[in-house]
Amino acid sequence: MFLTTRGLILREAKYKESDKILTILTETNGKLTAKARGVSRTRSKIAAATQLLSFSDLTLFGSRGYWTINEAATVEQFRPLRTDINLLALGSYIAELTEAVSNEGVPEPDILQLALGALYALSSRLCLPKQVKAAFELRLMCLAGYRPELGCCAGCGREELPAGARLFPEHGEIYCHECRAVGGLALGQDTLRAMRYIAGAEARRVFAFRLQEPQLSELASVCEAYTLYQLDRAFGSLDYYKKLRTD
Ligand SMILES: [Zn+2]
Repeated sequence: MFLTTRGLILREAKYKESDKILTILTETNGKLTAKARGVSRTRSKIAAATQLLSFSDLTLFGSRGYWTINEAATVEQFRPLRTDINLLALGSYIAELTEAVSNEGVPEPDILQLALGALYALSSRLCLPKQVKAAFELRLMCLAGYRPELGCCAGCGREELPAGARLFPEHGEIYCHECRAVGGLALGQDTLRAMRYIAGAEARRVFAFRLQEPQLSELASVCEAYTLYQLDRAFGSLDYYKKLRTD
């Protein structure tokens, strides 16, 4: 059977001399694995459309559960990511997280839109990479079933939390400093406001907010810690991204 769809290439692995095995988040079939033949050859017409982080029109042939790419044409290549090693590393982390939370055979339109939005924000430098990363992580957790309860203190129910609030990843709850003074992740008021924005914003506005330092760094560390806690695994691309940044 043939399948025509659009998809974002989340992972590529070299296979044999000139083939690749790709993991793709497609519009119609969710996550799938497909073989791309001959794409490591310099003259391959579908090389660009089948590389990591390309969003492409695809025609696939499926037989007994195995997919092969017949045709591919690039819709969006996110070219600026490919000339900046930091942005490429962060884009790879976005892809790895997307792969971790998406399922085979289940279309994930919201997750696909979020990943594309994050790659677009990175490549067009709409905001700092740190902000794209944090907003992507938190929004992805919301879409993947790990939405934290950010509306009020889980102890006393107050919605306006004074300074000293804390997020407890194990319950996905926030507490004011009077209900819980230790443990969890410390959250300033501006950080909490930004998190509420990210969790509740219209899909196309998720990255469109302003946050100053040091609050932006606090947001970044809270969103990363929350994500890693929920998914309970390491991400090679994140380790690599961090290594680049401290060297
Ligand atoms: Zn409270």
